[in-house]
Amino acid sequence: MKKLNLANLPTKIYKLERLSKELDAPIYIKRDDQTGSEWSGNKIRKLEFAVQEALEQGCDMLITTGGIQSNHCRATVAVATYFGMKSAVLLRISEQPPLKGNYFLDLLLGADVKFCTKEEYKRRDEIMAQMAEEYRKQGYKPYVIPEGASNGIGTLGYYNAMNEIVMQEKELGIKFDTIVVATGSGGTCAGLNLANIVKGYGRRIVSMAVCDDVEYFQKKALEISIEALPYLVSQGEITDERGEELRKSLKMADFEINDKYVGIGYALSRPEELEHIKKTARTEGVIFDPVYTGKATYGIRCELEEGGSLRGAGNILFIHTGGLFGLFPISETFDVS
Ligand SMILES: *Cc1c(COP(=O)(O)O)cnc(C)c1O
Repeated sequence: MKKLNLANLPTKIYKLERLSKELDAPIYIKRDDQTGSEWSGNKIRKLEFAVQEALEQGCDMLITTGGIQSNHCRATVAVATYFGMKSAVLLRISEQPPLKGNYFLDLLLGADVKFCTKEEYKRRDEIMAQMAEEYRKQGYKPYVIPEGASNGIGTLGYYNAMNEIVMQEKELGIKFDTIVVATGSGGTCAGLNLANIVKGYGRRIVSMAVCDDVEYFQKKALEISIEALPYLVSQGEITDERGEELRKSLKMADFEINDKYVGIGYALSRPEELEHIKKTARTEGVIFDPVYTGKATYGIRCELEEGGSLRGAGNILFIHTGGLFGLFPISETFDVS
């Protein structure tokens, strides 16, 4: 499919030996946290498609939005600067933020930053449209990317990632029965499931919510998937008729969401989650982030206990979607003695 080639792909897959032994289940990891450095994580796969479109349209600026420690905003800013484009990010805050983590990198990479409150963030698309209008008056040609690049075009990044996994299975001589991923804005979940359905892979995909609930994400993933269909048609992946058929047949229940590990809320950590992050760092040498992958893998740990929903799930593949920079602003909350 037509996209930029920015990420280091395919990302490595290997078995987490100690964790598999501890939890008595075969658990593998796909290192989408290693898609790059400045643009590391899952968002770059979506940006490869979105920014391709921006460049085709002759845009010279990217505008996007997210929380103060948004990995997506940092990756977008990095890509913009890489192409010599201007960038601006609308960041949600509750108080004056410390100059740390992704927010620090946004500024270091040269982005214009505009803050908004949690209340204003509900109107983020409207505010970004206003920002775009202002920049247009200054002579820029901005391209606006929604939260998480979770829209029809962005989700193609994870449609591709699902195909990549199936290709890697052949090389590795293994089949992944269950794929687990964290979900925050729904685009990663939508893309993986869409490829699974379109290509008839028949895998189980479990999306671990880090905010909101099952209904919210099923609705969101369905919306994004339907929005992606015209792109799949124009990219020659499916015919018009197949697109129409899918538009009618896709349903909320196609997306398995687990919302039991949101914990005390988005970007807020419980001691057991931090303990889990420390433990996997020390046994596997893999660092999970507190906002997404730490919660999702803590969910895997709990769901593998007696009677849990991942017992008997076969070979499990967890996609590590990144987020390392978001760990540093909360380093003081860890007991690393
Ligand atoms: C954004 C993000 C996710 C969630 O992906 P969505 O497509 O937004 O649901 C997971 N992990 C990390 C580290 C992220 O930054």
